[in-house]
Amino acid sequence: MSSKTLKKAVSLVCAVALILCSVCMTGGAEVSAMTADEAKEKLQDLQDELVAVNKELAKAKDAIEEARERAKTYTKRVEIVKEQISILQESIDAKKEELSVKQQELDAKVKEHDDTKDLFKTRLRAMYMSNDVTTLSLILGANSFSEFLVAAEMQSKISKHDTELIEKLQNEADAIAYQKEIIEGELASLENDMEILEDKYSELAALLQEANEDLTAAEAYKQVTEEDYDRVVAEMQETQAEWNELMGTGMYGYVGGYFAWPVPGFNWISSPFGWRTLYGQANWHGGIDIAGAGIYGKPIIASNTGRVELVRYYTTGYGYHVMIDHGDDYWTVYGHMSSIAVSEGEWVAQGQVIGYVGSTGNSTGPHLHFEIRVNGDRVDPLNYLNYDYEF
Ligand SMILES: [Zn+2]
Repeated sequence: MSSKTLKKAVSLVCAVALILCSVCMTGGAEVSAMTADEAKEKLQDLQDELVAVNKELAKAKDAIEEARERAKTYTKRVEIVKEQISILQESIDAKKEELSVKQQELDAKVKEHDDTKDLFKTRLRAMYMSNDVTTLSLILGANSFSEFLVAAEMQSKISKHDTELIEKLQNEADAIAYQKEIIEGELASLENDMEILEDKYSELAALLQEANEDLTAAEAYKQVTEEDYDRVVAEMQETQAEWNELMGTGMYGYVGGYFAWPVPGFNWISSPFGWRTLYGQANWHGGIDIAGAGIYGKPIIASNTGRVELVRYYTTGYGYHVMIDHGDDYWTVYGHMSSIAVSEGEWVAQGQVIGYVGSTGNSTGPHLHFEIRVNGDRVDPLNYLNYDYEF
């Protein structure tokens, strides 16, 4: 099929479609999904939705940050307790080894004692049983009484020595048993410490798990919210295009509403709009300077919904600055930022953080230089800003 025939075929299909369309539209009404006013109203609703979605997104990001911090803290603490458990386990093992050595020592001593006692008993028995060595035989066998006395004394000496030896062994066994008891006490105390540590570990592990679950939930919520964000932005662009078409203009319409104060929580205007004296010279100031103690690094929000037209990282003039197109020739400019959080072409909702207060470019200290431009003219922002609007 040649391109000419293709074009013919396409226009034929279009014609049929048009006929079908006018047939189904009773009374041949205008083929339009909505009027320009409806489109504009929808755009404003979408803007509100985008603000709400952005707040949820910020909440999700905060929740992620918080859960991540918490997980980090508990991971660290779990590691510490794990290390403590491992050290304590070494002490317990050493103590058990010590106990086992002491037990062996005790067993040996008890055996020595028992053996000696047995030996003594045997000897005693032998003394009484043998005709040669019983006391009786000693008496009967003695050639003289003095001989008997010597023999009897010797036997008494042997018996005394044996008794003392057994007593000594018994005392030594008792001493070892006492040492063993002390070691057992120490072991019990270590095992008690271990129980406490293991409880602590379980508690921390549960908290870590909870933090990780919170993190997963927050990440899931962030993802859902981001999808919401993309959907709203897409719908805005679609509605905007529709509205532009209805109005017969290539420009998209002013998103409407009011302009929000761009640095929440900082209300001091260090230099107002209009003529001022700068370095001893009369100087026209095209915006307002918002300053205050502690303002450096504080968030700057989009004063109104729009599309980021321009992002520049200059070291002179406005320094790091952002320009937002709000449609219908409404613009805002944010100058001297320390850093920028958006990129060109991005849709931003009113209240969305676009950057942070700094002192880049031609600046004498941390402040935000803020401009509103209408039809190409810089106007006094105070006539457009809504002071009550706080994010
Ligand atoms: Zn300024």
